Amino acid sequence: MKVLITQEEIKKRVEELAEEIRRKYKGKELVVLILLKGAFVFAADLLRRLEGVEIRCDFIKASSYGTSTESSGNVQLNLLPSLDITGKEVLLVDDILDTGLTLKKVKDWVLEQGAKNCETCVLLDKPERRKVPFKADYTGFEIPNHFVVGYGMDCAERYRHLPYVAILE
Ligand code: 5GP
Ligand code: MG
Repeated sequence: MKVLITQEEIKKRVEELAEEIRRKYKGKELVVLILLKGAFVFAADLLRRLEGVEIRCDFIKASSYGTSTESSGNVQLNLLPSLDITGKEVLLVDDILDTGLTLKKVKDWVLEQGAKNCETCVLLDKPERRKVPFKADYTGFEIPNHFVVGYGMDCAERYRHLPYVAILE
């Protein structure tokens, strides 16, 4: 295991992202939808820096069937938020933007529900891996094509608790 992004680097970048989001939504209502499971650590740190935004948060889960490290492209939503998002401004928070298939599917679903708009925030982006065009509105770090774990991200449910992002070799 090789550390790619340290705890300190993550903290500093999360503060910057939160400041950007706070500036945009200060005093406004925002529904934050956290993609399970990988985004829970990132979202917990990010949300605690969004004081002044009227946040309601909920969770959503998407799965794509394939091997553990390769997305099949068949993305299904298997846990839906109970909050009504009709007419709401929504921010989707995910751990990593890879092929883009998951966030595209979830964002399309959010807009189909009648959300007023839907922005996306990801900790990591692997632009080389994209299968569908997708750009997040807020990105923590662009990384090369490695399989990473830690800070919420797993390999067979292990390593989610690590406070840094590491490359699994
Ligand atoms: P996409 O649909 O963009 O290909 O995949 C996004 C999801 O795949 C992420 O939310 C994450 O759960 C998983 N994923 C993609 N790359 C990695 C990685 O390097 N490490 C881990 N642990 N999960 C990944
Ligand atoms: Mg995920």
